[in-house]
Order: sequence, then C-alpha cells, then structure tokens
Amino acid sequence: MATAKKPVRKKTTAGKNTLRVSLQTGWTYDPAPESKSVARIDKRYELFINGKWEAPLSKKYFDTINPATEEKLSEVAEAGVADVDKAVTAAGQAYEKTWKKMPARERAKYIFRIARMIQEKARELAVIETLDGGKPIRESRDFDVPTAANHFFYYAGWADKLEYAFPNRKTEPLGVAGQIIPWNFPLLMAAWKIAPALATGNTVVLKPAETTPLTALKLAEIIREADLPPGVVNIITGAGATGASLVQHPGVSKIAFTGSTEIGKLIQQSTAGTSKKLTLELGGKAANIIFEDAPLDQAVEGVINGIFFNQGHVCCAGSRLYVQESVAKEVIRKLKDRMASLIVGDPLDKNTDIGAINSRQQLDTIRKYISIGKKEGAEFYESDCRLPGKGFFCKPTLFSQVAQSSRIAQEEIFGPVLAILTFRTDDEVIEKANNTPYGLSAGVWTDKGSKIFNMTKRIRAGVIWANTFNKFDPSSPFGGFKESGYGREGGLHGLLPYVKLIS
Ligand code: ADP
Repeated sequence: MATAKKPVRKKTTAGKNTLRVSLQTGWTYDPAPESKSVARIDKRYELFINGKWEAPLSKKYFDTINPATEEKLSEVAEAGVADVDKAVTAAGQAYEKTWKKMPARERAKYIFRIARMIQEKARELAVIETLDGGKPIRESRDFDVPTAANHFFYYAGWADKLEYAFPNRKTEPLGVAGQIIPWNFPLLMAAWKIAPALATGNTVVLKPAETTPLTALKLAEIIREADLPPGVVNIITGAGATGASLVQHPGVSKIAFTGSTEIGKLIQQSTAGTSKKLTLELGGKAANIIFEDAPLDQAVEGVINGIFFNQGHVCCAGSRLYVQESVAKEVIRKLKDRMASLIVGDPLDKNTDIGAINSRQQLDTIRKYISIGKKEGAEFYESDCRLPGKGFFCKPTLFSQVAQSSRIAQEEIFGPVLAILTFRTDDEVIEKANNTPYGLSAGVWTDKGSKIFNMTKRIRAGVIWANTFNKFDPSSPFGGFKESGYGREGGLHGLLPYVKLIS
C-alpha cells in the first residue's frame, strides 16, 4: 500500500535497514512479505535415483543458503563418481525396459501430470525458489513457476505427435540425457531440459546448480508422486566435479548444458571425439537498441526490466544499451529517474524489484566489474537506495560514456549493471551490436516496422525482441550463436536435440 509520508526506514524480514522509499515521490511502501509457511524444506536431501531417495556413496553433503539472509536452508548430498554412475545406470535401465517401449500417448500422460502438479504446488515452489536463489517473489511467482508448468504442458502435447514435428521422417530417442543447469532460473531450466527429453522418449539425469538445488529436489518429489516409472528422471546434486562426471559418463548419449561459456568450452572438449550429442546455452551480452523514433518511456521500462529485474541474473539480460545520440541525454535522465524508484531488498516482499545476488562469489564478480568500469573511465551512477545489512545485495548501476572496447561492454557481468553507448546510424549500431563474442539475444526499440526487419536480419543473435524485452513462451525457440552456444530449447526446435532422425 502506498501512503504519502516522509521516507522512513522499515523493518523487513531481510534485514533492519531496507529503506522502502521512492526518491521521486517520497512515498513509502509498507512491507508485503509472502509467507514462508507454505514452504516445506527438509533439513537434509539425499540423491533422487531410481525413484528413491538414496544417501550418497560419497557420504558428503553441502549447505544451501538463503542469499538474502546468509542463513542455512538445508544440506544436500554431493554426488561422487560412483553416485553419478548409479544414476546413469538407473536411467539406462529405465530407458531400455520401460520408457522407450511405452506408447507415446502414455508418456504424455505422465508429463501432463507433472505440469498439473507444478501448478498445484506453485506457491510453495515460488517461495522456495525465492528463498534459495534470492530472486523477487513476484518473479518466481509470476514467471518462473508458471512458465515451468507451461513447458511441461507444451511438450506433453508433442509426445504423440512427433510425426507432425518431423514430417516424413521417423524418429528415435537417444537414450540417457545428462542435463546440467545454472542457478538463475533453477526450476524453469529443469523444465526446459526435462520436458522435451521425456516427450521424445529419453530418460534423464539432471544436476541443478550447487547454490540453488531445492526446487529441482522439490520437482523430484513431484515426479515421485506423479508415479513416473523409477529411473526415468534422476536428480543428483553436487558442484562442478559432479557435473564433469556426468558429462564424462559413457552411458550418457546426450548432454544439455546451460551455464557459463568457460564451462561450456570444457564440456565441448570433454565430449569431442565421442558420439554424445551436445547442446550448449551459454553466456550473452545483449544489445538493447533505442532509436530516436522509439516510444521512449516504454523503451526505458523495457531496459529497466531487461537488466535490473532479476538482478541481471539472466544470460539474455540487456546489459549493453545503445541509444541514438539525439535522444541519449533524455533516455539517460529517464533511466536514472526510474532507477530511483526501484525497490531493492527482501526478495520475499511483493514490492521488491531487485532481490539478492545469488551468492557472495557472484557479488564479488559484479563488484570487480564495477571497479573495472570506473577505472576504464566510464561515467558511473548508482541508485541512491540503502541495502539490507545482511545478505548479498547490489545497487542498480549504470555506466554512460562507455567505449565499445571496454571490458564492461564486452564481458558478461551477470548483475544489475548497465553499460550505455551511443550511435548515429543503423550501420554503425549493427556493427557495434555484433562486435561481441556472444550472440544470444538483442532488443530493438523503434516506431518503424521496416527498421525492425532490417535490424533483426542483420543482428547476429538467436532471439531479438522488438519493442519489448525478455518475453518467453514454451512454443518459441531460444538459443544463441557464437560463444553463446548452439542448439535450441523451446518450441518445435527444442525437440530436435533429443531425437535421431532415422529415415
Ligand atoms: P555460472 O557461472 O552461471 O555459475 P557455471 O558454468 O559455473 O555457471 O555453472 C553452471 C552449471 O555447471 C552448474 O550446475 C555447475 O555446477 C556446473 N559445472 C561447473 N563446472 C562444471 C564442469 N567442469 N563440468 C560440468 N558441469 C560443471
């Protein structure tokens, strides 16, 4: 509720010092925290292998914490080489004995059931996503969880229609898919990976990121309740070594990886010379391009959404803003005004725009890039908000007067840091936008349809949004060029990486 009174500091669950105030209006917002009571988090989680919870043979566990409070939420098993082998063996047996033989319409029923159960448990999943990952509850409640359910619905629909997806071709599944996901959209990435694999008749061993394992483990509970045949989906937790063992396991026929370009390259090396199919969804440095004829307020809101919401923890975040010179001053002023009204703080609060950075390590990386930007001579601006005393938080930050060659314009920061550059002509901005090792996404803001077509044809990015940003739908494919990886997830295209076309 907004009330017109002087800025005051309010207690919130994230820490005593969150200042809930719009600097433009002087209004304050009363805290509106989502209740944690719906979230059942066990003290300890084992590995989900062959339909059962199995203590790790490694005997090791690690903590997962709430990045907004630094409090421990639970401890989870760390799968060692023998555990990975157990999971891959279970998936291999389930593939041979059950899943590949099951009529496709029967497979579809299980996938539909998972989708419905995600919807039934949506509130709990959203709260756990926010507690474990730090993203605002609005984001996990309104985007992550419903979109995850939609992915299962969408691919359930394809399971018995593959002959229409690949007309005049016969398809066969590949076998066991090893899937490794990052921490920015934990449940959604699990859905992106598991749903098409199951629909096409493959079985799965999935490894969530070490800082955000909880919603994948909740998904394991759902999969168990949905009565999916044992071993069809196995969920194992651990860090990089667990992921590497999964990649190297000879029983795995397909690797699907979303994460950093650095690890993507390692995975490419370790699968080279094998028959494993590989899809990689890696880093990005999206250019958001505003032309002088664009609806500027709408564009500014799109830029804010593209880089600051979800703390910039999005591989397709619009982290480079190219503004046509004639409107640059106005756009930067509007951006600063809007940044002043962004609420940074308790991720469980429904008013919060920017939650916690996922880990201390990621916060350190972001801080390192902010100091690089300052040293490189760009003009620095951060919003004047106060951060909670505890937890990992970062003020929304922008750099203007950024040079094309500077590191903050070239390298992925994965935080709420925007680099602003200017341009005069279409050719100039296309050249600058394409001058990056990445090619995942881009945005174009203009009143002219012809300009949109010109830009989308010439910008080398897998996804280009026009007069909007960061919009997703299960039916539309997503993936990149160059160092952003290869292969597509989502849509009809997302089926292809999981099948062999045999005739
Ligand atoms: P980020 O920088 O986004 O954390 P990473 O690429 O480090 O991305 O991590 C993404 C996922 O890859 C995580 O689940 C992580 O545990 C896993 N991972 C890290 N190192 C390796 C590796 N060498 N082989 C396979 N998976 C790995």
